[in-house]
Amino acid sequence: MAIEAKDQKLATDETVPMTKDRELQARARVVIPGGMYGHMNTRTLPANYPQFMRSGKGARVVDVDGREFVDLMCSWGPVILGHRHQGVEQAAAQQAALGDVLNGPSERFVELAEKFVSLVSHADWAMFLKNGTDATTLCCTIARAHTGRRKILVAKGAYHGAAPWCTPVEAGTTIEDRSNLVRYIYNDLASVREALASVEGDVAGVLVSPFRHDAGFDQEFVDVDFARGLRALCDQSGAALILDDVRCGLRLHHGGSWEPIGVEPDLSAWSKAIANGYALAAVLGNNQYRDAASSLFTTGSFWYSSVAMAASLATLEALERENSVAHMVSQGSTLREGIDAQAQRWGLEVRQTGPVQMPYLSFEGDHEWRMASRFSAGALRHGLYLHPRHNWFVSGAMTDADLDMALAATNLAFQELRASLNDEREHQGQ
Ligand code: PMP
Repeated sequence: MAIEAKDQKLATDETVPMTKDRELQARARVVIPGGMYGHMNTRTLPANYPQFMRSGKGARVVDVDGREFVDLMCSWGPVILGHRHQGVEQAAAQQAALGDVLNGPSERFVELAEKFVSLVSHADWAMFLKNGTDATTLCCTIARAHTGRRKILVAKGAYHGAAPWCTPVEAGTTIEDRSNLVRYIYNDLASVREALASVEGDVAGVLVSPFRHDAGFDQEFVDVDFARGLRALCDQSGAALILDDVRCGLRLHHGGSWEPIGVEPDLSAWSKAIANGYALAAVLGNNQYRDAASSLFTTGSFWYSSVAMAASLATLEALERENSVAHMVSQGSTLREGIDAQAQRWGLEVRQTGPVQMPYLSFEGDHEWRMASRFSAGALRHGLYLHPRHNWFVSGAMTDADLDMALAATNLAFQELRASLNDEREHQGQ
């Protein structure tokens, strides 16, 4: 595996001015509140990050100024087979030629529900929506409709979306929006028991992610006994076990993320990767929750859109045919080993946590993510798009050449970080 970037450097460094990006940012500040909202806001990104993108192909993206990057964010998860995957694009185009948002869904609606029911072991039925937040919210609503209770247990620090009941930023929300949430600590069953006891008889559901992936913190795998314990506690109390598979779904396992550990949720929320970048979300559930799900009035103007469903069918088929989970694990393992060796070489103490196909890198003693930000700004300069505070995503499109490029960029980023830390020390007379 080559780690020298000399011959492979992409045209990404500061020699390419970010003219178009800066111009668009200035125009956006006039007509878009804050210029940008959500996770692409520059407040959470190093200064040299582009906010605007032009194109993507496979494991590469190109920003509006024509700078090309190996993509380790995959649009924050949705792109699982790589950008503009041929089979998915063909299926989407075929459906688009017939129509997308028609008066009702197309055949794809039933085919996709059948596909999910056969793919995901806990699922007896499926519903389709647009965003992950739609899906987590609907899971909670179904749990409440089934149980006639109010409270939902959520892990402290977990992200389940941006609606008033779950957004991590309180601006614009009311106490009442969140008054039905009770917190527990991930992987701590005693804290779940305590939370249950504090609202005994009123718990509609326990919401949990497949592993702990709170942004900005080292990731933590689920303790199998914790997962089994949650299942047992939900059975005892009559609450729904709700798995938020929005971020992990299909990257860990070709099926539900807790299938390998044998713990079945009652309801699960999906989005991001299920249509390789087309806007789609799903709620899957078992027969116990079928009547509650059908008792609701829930819909959206675009929820029956057929192009995303055709894209999803093609995505599920391609994931299986291309054995993508295994490929992502293989590429992710090489990336992890390469980064570990490089960090050691440059005398930097790092931790890499979580599954290799959803890596998170942190630096020892790195308060306020300062080293992480400098590292990711360096990686970006050398042609690799990743994020300092959020887990990265490997896609099934990552070739060995992409991996070489990525590791060449991380090596240079570590080298530069080492040099700047040495300079700082010298400056401080240490
Ligand atoms: N749950 C999890 C675990 C997520 O990672 C996200 C999105 N980052 C959501 C829910 C919300 O999904 P969306 O942004 O599509 O509404």
